[in-house]
Amino acid sequence: MADLSLPDDPVAPPVADRGVWLHCIECGETHPPFDAVIYTCESCGGLLEARYDRYPGFDAFEGRGRGVWRYAPALPFEAGVSLPEGDTPLHEAPRLERELDVRTLRVKHEGMNPTGSFKDRGMTVGVQVARELGVDRLACASTGNTSAALAAYGARAGLETLVLLPAGKVAAGKVAQASLHGARILEVDGNFDACLDVVSELADRGEAYLLNSMNPFRLEGQKTIGLEILEAFRDEEDRVPDRIVLPVGNAGNTAALYKCFRELVAAGALAPADVPALTGVQAEGAAPLVEAVESGADDVERWDHVETIATAIRIGNPVNAPKALPGIRETGGTAVAVSDDEITAAQRSLAGEGIGVEPASAASVAGLRKLREAGTIGADEDVVCLTTGHLLKDPDAAAAAGNDPEPVPTDADAVVAHLAGDGGA
Ligand SMILES: *Cc1c(COP(=O)(O)O)cnc(C)c1O
Ligand SMILES: [Zn+2]
Repeated sequence: MADLSLPDDPVAPPVADRGVWLHCIECGETHPPFDAVIYTCESCGGLLEARYDRYPGFDAFEGRGRGVWRYAPALPFEAGVSLPEGDTPLHEAPRLERELDVRTLRVKHEGMNPTGSFKDRGMTVGVQVARELGVDRLACASTGNTSAALAAYGARAGLETLVLLPAGKVAAGKVAQASLHGARILEVDGNFDACLDVVSELADRGEAYLLNSMNPFRLEGQKTIGLEILEAFRDEEDRVPDRIVLPVGNAGNTAALYKCFRELVAAGALAPADVPALTGVQAEGAAPLVEAVESGADDVERWDHVETIATAIRIGNPVNAPKALPGIRETGGTAVAVSDDEITAAQRSLAGEGIGVEPASAASVAGLRKLREAGTIGADEDVVCLTTGHLLKDPDAAAAAGNDPEPVPTDADAVVAHLAGDGGA
């Protein structure tokens, strides 16, 4: 029997503030959320997650506007530092749906957030917590999108922002965003995991407030992806998708969606049998979570060397694995690795439906294709693929995957002749 319950805490622990507290997923200890800066359990070092004295159902959101803060009854605050974020499209993709042969395919395009990735949903809550705590400097390690989002939300809040990036491994659009929004960009000669090691130590020394996804409040914002998907399916079709397929880097979204489902189960708004199967996709060159799911291990083994065209998920040590692995298992999901060529092919397929995504995002569709071919995903399923970032984030990858420009003379007759030929191919 799947475990979709929320572990027991006293209904209102003495440490609750605004009906919110932090619960250690390893030892169960509770911590006050806003008294002092806290990222992990002070007793055992385990990951923390936010707990509430209430779990609202869908009726609590009615008449509350759109976007992340529509879901304030399920969040720690009424409002946050907002640009605003969320309310992203849930595209139909009829050609891909037919080709992949599933009952329905919808694409939740998180690239349509203000800075072009789902990271904005986490930052609107996380930067609000930073304000609440009264910190004056924010920091993150990033494969790019977290730094773009933090730079924008930090600027909006008037706070100084540091971002640590792996030198030479961040797509051009993302560095440009962090730069123009005024973050100090610290380039590290190492991969993302090395950047995270450094910035975690800076945070421990009190140099900055850390907004990587081990920060439990980021995931609170990101769980609204699940609320939006389930609300849309409920309104349009009065059902729940069978499966959500998503790219996995640090596994924050996987953890956030699992939490979303458990809270809806606790609210009585989602039957345990209806919970969508969480299906994670990694690149073959950075697939430690897939390895753990396939071997049935309880822990993920860190990969020291990672490489993939999907730089947003070029991560060897997924920090949220202890939250995400149970999410994949308890929802009856799975995980799969795809090659860079499969990712690029999926990026082209999505683009052919008018949906422009960066490589990491296309991993979801590449994973769906692979699992459909293997028969793991059935033709009778309603599937949602999450596309996490916008095409313009990585213009070099897009240009390499797309058509090459064709030089033509400055002359209409010559252009017509060119078009009548073989198109210059
Ligand atoms: C951050 C990011 C991911 C990885 O998400 P996790 O929650 O860390 O698993 C995937 N795709 C894009 C575009 C991202 O920016
Ligand atoms: Zn603990």
